[in-house]
Amino acid sequence: MALIVQKYGGTSVGDPERIRRVAERVCRFRREGHDMVVVVSAMGDTTDELVALAESVSAAAGKRHPREMDMLLTAGERISMALVAMAIREAGQEAISFTGSQAAIITDSTHTGARIEEVRAGRVREELNRGQVVIVAGFQGVSRTHEVTTLGRGGSDTTAVALAAALNAERCDIFTDVDGVYTADPRKVPTARRIEHVTYEEMIELAVAGAQVMHPRAVEIGARYGVPIRVLSSLVDGEDGGTLIAGKERGMEDPALTGVASEKGWAQLVLRGLPPEMRTMTTVLSRLTEAGVSVDLLTQVDRADGRRLVQITVAEDEVEEAERTCEAVVRELGGERVDVQHGLARLALVGSGMHKRPGVFAQAFETLRREGVDVHSVSAASTSIILMVAAEDEARALTMLHDAFGLGAAA
Ligand code: ASP
Ligand code: MG
Repeated sequence: MALIVQKYGGTSVGDPERIRRVAERVCRFRREGHDMVVVVSAMGDTTDELVALAESVSAAAGKRHPREMDMLLTAGERISMALVAMAIREAGQEAISFTGSQAAIITDSTHTGARIEEVRAGRVREELNRGQVVIVAGFQGVSRTHEVTTLGRGGSDTTAVALAAALNAERCDIFTDVDGVYTADPRKVPTARRIEHVTYEEMIELAVAGAQVMHPRAVEIGARYGVPIRVLSSLVDGEDGGTLIAGKERGMEDPALTGVASEKGWAQLVLRGLPPEMRTMTTVLSRLTEAGVSVDLLTQVDRADGRRLVQITVAEDEVEEAERTCEAVVRELGGERVDVQHGLARLALVGSGMHKRPGVFAQAFETLRREGVDVHSVSAASTSIILMVAAEDEARALTMLHDAFGLGAAA
């Protein structure tokens, strides 16, 4: 019999009835003889409500009082862990709940955005050996100086996969309100269908590009320690379907693309007429770093007159800071001007099958040209192609690309 870690998200433990359903599911696995560790998120919108409560006392609570914010937010998961433990005991199995600190999830000391450094699984193991189902509060840990920390919003997935890695679990099941990872967001692309297997690498790309099913940090841990992750719905009975995230080798006949994802809220800056030297790019980048702006895509081109053009994309909420910084750099380096384009969407075409396969770019551009969609910038890596388009073209471009590459249900 195996050791299985299961994570239940906020919707899955959203009310007492759902908590009872979680308990029944966990008990069924336990009765089959599995050792069960259950990681829970806060019920429903609890975390959002706690954040709002904090902000009603202190407008920038997270920034001004990060330690107290963590004390507050960890309470959300503490509520659900206790209720789930009670429900499991009522359903006939032994269960004990632990906070992140009690489960010895050791993090660095960055309040509201801590990273897990180590999981000392001794106490959890002891309770498993006693036959207990162990419930662990997600999204939280403790620093080496005994301060309570949180891992950043959506961090319960990370807790679950880290525990699965530390316990050498057979797999980590992520129960959520959708029945798996889709070839595209079904709200944007009606022909989207569920993916049965996705590699860690593809899943990280999809998650970073806006697929909201799983936290990318959790998938990274899964990849590093080789923990198979299953994403499935807690709202349907049974464990059929779902998506397996694992290190599967892909065959020669695999399609070029596995999925597409997209996100609005991007902007692009074009810095014109700069000197054609390495110093140009290093100055732009170091100033932006100092200003706390993170750069997404980055391109440079030399014009016929020998001056250099640098193009960068940044998140819309950092664009003002980026513009101010770039204007100062352009002045300093004797350049011409900065043009800003707002309202872009970032599309990601993801698939390990596209590596070294000719024609993917051509097909993507041809598809968009036929639709009259302009591409503002592009970048490519071995498992993804990123395209920036106007936000109003997002859904149409995504649907066209999805279907052109045969990802659609009818394909
Ligand atoms: N409750 C936390 C949040 O909403 C952690 C999680 O759900 O993963 O961000
Ligand atoms: Mg949540």
